[in-house]
Amino acid sequence: MSRINVMKPWMGSEEILALSEVIMSGWVAQGPKVAQFEREFASAMQAEHAVATSNCTTALHLALIVAGVAVGDEVIVPSFSFIATANAPTYVGARPIFIDVDPVTGCVTADGVAAAVTERTRAVIVVDQGGVPVDLDSIRAVCDPLGIVVIEDAACGAGSTYGARPVGAGAVLAAWSFHPRKLLTTGEGGMLTTSNAEWAERAGRLREHAMSVSASDRQASVLAPAEEYLEIGFNYRMTDMQAAVGIVQLGRLPEMVRKRREIADRYTAALAGIDGLRPVSDPRWGTTNYQSYWVEVGEEYPVDREALLLQLAEAGVSARRGIMSAHLQPAYAGSPSLRVPLPVSEHLTSTTLILPLYHQLEAAQQAIVIAALLTPITVVRHG
Ligand SMILES: *Cc1c(COP(=O)(O)O)cnc(C)c1O
Repeated sequence: MSRINVMKPWMGSEEILALSEVIMSGWVAQGPKVAQFEREFASAMQAEHAVATSNCTTALHLALIVAGVAVGDEVIVPSFSFIATANAPTYVGARPIFIDVDPVTGCVTADGVAAAVTERTRAVIVVDQGGVPVDLDSIRAVCDPLGIVVIEDAACGAGSTYGARPVGAGAVLAAWSFHPRKLLTTGEGGMLTTSNAEWAERAGRLREHAMSVSASDRQASVLAPAEEYLEIGFNYRMTDMQAAVGIVQLGRLPEMVRKRREIADRYTAALAGIDGLRPVSDPRWGTTNYQSYWVEVGEEYPVDREALLLQLAEAGVSARRGIMSAHLQPAYAGSPSLRVPLPVSEHLTSTTLILPLYHQLEAAQQAIVIAALLTPITVVRHG
């Protein structure tokens, strides 16, 4: 029995060709392809500036630095997210403050943010969770007048929309991931987009040791100009090999989203006939790219989430537990980051699972997944 994975990148001969061109050119580290990818990504996401990074976590780190977040500050974050969202503030000596999420979208709300603001709050990281766009404008309406910077963790968001625009387009700072678990992939990779030219320039420098002259500019000249190191920076660079793949991937994005939404619609239609399974869906204010097609396993379903995962595994379907809650991990045990109970996050983390959804998922494979959800259930719900 062949196994059905939860996710599989959609790549092919175009990526191989683009990669081999870079390899043959002899210029493999950050250079012209990274610059081209930045321009094309900014244009596709309707962002003013883009800075490519080694991954989304490093993009979040740079976002917090350029936003001026520092030791002793508080940064409001959802616990219900991949743990990098909570970790990034700790890199600058700030404290993540966990808030709960909306039970339907899995995203933070303006009310939730407003209730957590203190005089130490310097920034908020909002997440387009699993691709579902966060209601950014309502949160900015709370934060902008207070001088609190709203950073969008759009790791999963490429191809989702907020209103009439791509997610991230309305953010002062947005961080993106090109890990293979997301739609666009460069193996590892990330991007920071921003509407602030000075922040873009500083982030671009910080990602390469805060050098006054970029490595590619030095390489491009016969007599390399002397560089200065303006502050303490990092090596958070993307390579031209990754960027060349990213450029091809970006061209595939519209077709990727179209196909994912078609597959998601088939799941949603099938699930409508099953009591107790509630799938994620578009919020009022936008559309999801279905980076994660998550399903809440409710009390009316005959078995719980763990038993359903087993049932799917027996059918060769590699589903996954839903999105984590950072505050439940040992890294945050007993942490002062947890100020209020997070019942919705805990509920979603323990009752949701993610179904296989990727570009090449065939109808026959999807039928196997759906059949496994419908299987006459022999296990009795425990507890
Ligand atoms: C994947 C993910 C990240 C981390 O992305 P990397 O590119 O692996 O660093 C951060 N935040 C969210 C919400 C994610 O889903």
